[in-house]
Amino acid sequence: MTNAKLKVTVVWPFWGDYAATRVRFVLESLTELAAEIEQCGSHLALGHGSAVETVVRAAKMARADAVYWNDEYEPQLMRRDDAVERALRSAGVAVRRFHDRLLVPPGAVTTKQGGPFVVYTPFRRACEALPLSGPLPRVTRLAPHDLPKIALASPDTLGFSTTQTPWTGGAKAAMKRLRRFLSHGLVRYENGRDRPADQATARLSADLKFGTLSPRTVSSAVLGAAREDTRALRSADKFISELRWRDFYAKVLFHHPHVESGAFRRNYDHIRWEGEPEHFPAWQAGQTGYPLVDVGMGELSTTGFMHDRVRMVVASFLTKDLLLDWRLGERHFMQQLVDGDLASNNGGWQWAASTGTDAQPFFRIFNPTLQGKRFDPDGAYIHRWLPELSKLPARWVHRPWEAPEKVLRDAGVALGVTYPSPIVEHLLQRERAVAMYRNASA
Ligand code: FAD
Repeated sequence: MTNAKLKVTVVWPFWGDYAATRVRFVLESLTELAAEIEQCGSHLALGHGSAVETVVRAAKMARADAVYWNDEYEPQLMRRDDAVERALRSAGVAVRRFHDRLLVPPGAVTTKQGGPFVVYTPFRRACEALPLSGPLPRVTRLAPHDLPKIALASPDTLGFSTTQTPWTGGAKAAMKRLRRFLSHGLVRYENGRDRPADQATARLSADLKFGTLSPRTVSSAVLGAAREDTRALRSADKFISELRWRDFYAKVLFHHPHVESGAFRRNYDHIRWEGEPEHFPAWQAGQTGYPLVDVGMGELSTTGFMHDRVRMVVASFLTKDLLLDWRLGERHFMQQLVDGDLASNNGGWQWAASTGTDAQPFFRIFNPTLQGKRFDPDGAYIHRWLPELSKLPARWVHRPWEAPEKVLRDAGVALGVTYPSPIVEHLLQRERAVAMYRNASA
């Protein structure tokens, strides 16, 4: 899509935007999986080519009676899997498909009218009425076969080099992250999950995305760990309800595939984004002059991850302060995030941009300074990740433009030189955003 006025080009499909950090994560996970399969008496076979041809060829070569897999729910992946199933069946090979990806499969809960939920809270309540199932027993033996074994490529040979901090892939590292959360984060989750400096969240989104942990394993471990402690139990309930957002957005995409390329509320496809194109690279580079936005964007480019609260703030800032199309931000996230996931990313962006299902109303606009004061009151997150402001006292760290000259000088900050002055004025942009959305809703 091209917006002639802004000269901003958005290219679909977004699923083609692989982040190098995700590719590295997947390759590491596959390397570990290959070693585990060998321990079970078999080996991981890899094939290159179209899914239909590769799977059917492998099934025939292995003289397989049936091919088993867990279902995916993204439109393009469902089309792929349906085509593979048809081809296998016509080649006389049976297919067994299972549900594993979400806590509750699509279609398992419906509204009273029998349709899919588009509002989160009743969706969550309906899901809570279903039992949560625990992890399945581990596979310990697999049949040998003589399909060719091909060495796994490295991210560099595939053209995915990155300087982002490595995020260790594989089930062992995932389990270590889960255990660390159970012992250090869980009890603080309910009150600390919104404060990025507290590190009270699980950081399991990449593991859930790529299946190095299943949501069943995570939910049963969290509930098990919290069993005897009321505070931890409240945190566990909150955690599972966050996990259900992941289910919710997967189902929004499943039932409303148009969200992949446009607004869930179609009238918002007519928004005339009024922002300045040069503000987009400033946002990407963390050079907006709003510390909470800049620190989040810096964390993203350095680590491939960003805290949920900060994702909401930077997304709101792009759409409602810079008045730029949410799809630009959605795509940038997919190119950077280790946990980049079409459904959750699209859901998060459409929530922040007020174009989504159960979204933030368009007139409720995050003030990045107040968000900073509320969720990073002592400036610890800024001090840690934004070196330009690391010496600025907490009182001024979310509004350096209001700090006295001497305070700035003592902290080594020269506005417009070592750290940018705000590129837009929040209160002014707020008014413009409300008018822009109102025009599209009219
Ligand atoms: P925790 O708070 O510990 O939550 C546990 C798990 O619950 C997460 O790992 C995640 O799987 C799930 N979860 C929690 N909150 C959400 C949510 N709001 N939406 C969906 N799932 C949730 N999440 C992704 O996995 N991939 C994305 O590409 C992605 N893009 C996002 C873009 C925007 C603009 C926003 C606002 C949110 C996005 N999220 C995305 C959701 C959320 O930010 C991350 O899942 C979360 O930050 C992961 O950190 P955690 O594991 O420490 O979370």
